[in-house]
Amino acid sequence: MGLFSNLFSKQACSLCNTEVGALNRTKLKDGLYICKTCKKDTSAFFKAENYTLNQVQKHIEYMEKQDELYDKEFSSLPKDKIDRIVHLGSYGIAFADDIAMFEIITPETSKRSHKELFRYDQIKDFEVYGKENINTQSGGKKYSETGIRILMNCANDISNISSSKDAKKFMHPYACEFIIPVSRNVDSKDGGLAKHHLNRIFGRPEETLVGSIKEKFTGTKHQQTGGKAAKEAASALGSLIKGDKEKAKEKLNSAIETGLEYATENRSKYTKIADKVEKDFMGETFREFLEK
Ligand SMILES: [Zn+2]
Repeated sequence: MGLFSNLFSKQACSLCNTEVGALNRTKLKDGLYICKTCKKDTSAFFKAENYTLNQVQKHIEYMEKQDELYDKEFSSLPKDKIDRIVHLGSYGIAFADDIAMFEIITPETSKRSHKELFRYDQIKDFEVYGKENINTQSGGKKYSETGIRILMNCANDISNISSSKDAKKFMHPYACEFIIPVSRNVDSKDGGLAKHHLNRIFGRPEETLVGSIKEKFTGTKHQQTGGKAAKEAASALGSLIKGDKEKAKEKLNSAIETGLEYATENRSKYTKIADKVEKDFMGETFREFLEK
């Protein structure tokens, strides 16, 4: 019995009632099942086995809204407003700076029934990774695979488990990491064009030759923002000395704003943009939607 009977015994999908065998279903946290077809309605980054049926239903509602958001706010953008970078045929990322959101493209995401967007302000960090080739003797190159890894501020991340409820609101609800392979069997690590776009988003130093020469004269975006905050703060202080409290207050607010951009690598700016896009789309942010 045991494994054998388990494999062949059919169970009803709690969403559509279809009877399915072990290979075509996922067991949820509360012991219920969903079928392969219904699973397509979930995100490629959502691990249904860690959630209850209620949570899965709420997640599918979230995905339906995401799909609409994608159609209305992302697909409708002019072509030159989307930087679509595809590496190795089926892995890539599409950036939309105007709405401060991006799409991840993988063989898994293309199989799903709903599209979804991720916000710039939920990116914690990114790095170029290289998986070292185990077998270099036989003429193989140093890395079997190299590409870019995007780490998200994620409510599911073990390191965030002790975070407060308020802090978790600002994290992505389930996606903790995206891996975008750029090339295989090479001698040096390569983050591809995706890395350059990410550098620009967060005002980090350009690693291209032209970019770095330009920055020698103008400073990185990040340095420029820092300088601007300092100037605004100095100007506020000047107004205060002159006795113009109102003007000083105004200037100080502006300095705080710019300083915040500097300290958060522009994330505060992207929060505003993405919040506005979500509110214009459905009257509330996804953060608020998930809280209900
Ligand atoms: Zn089903």
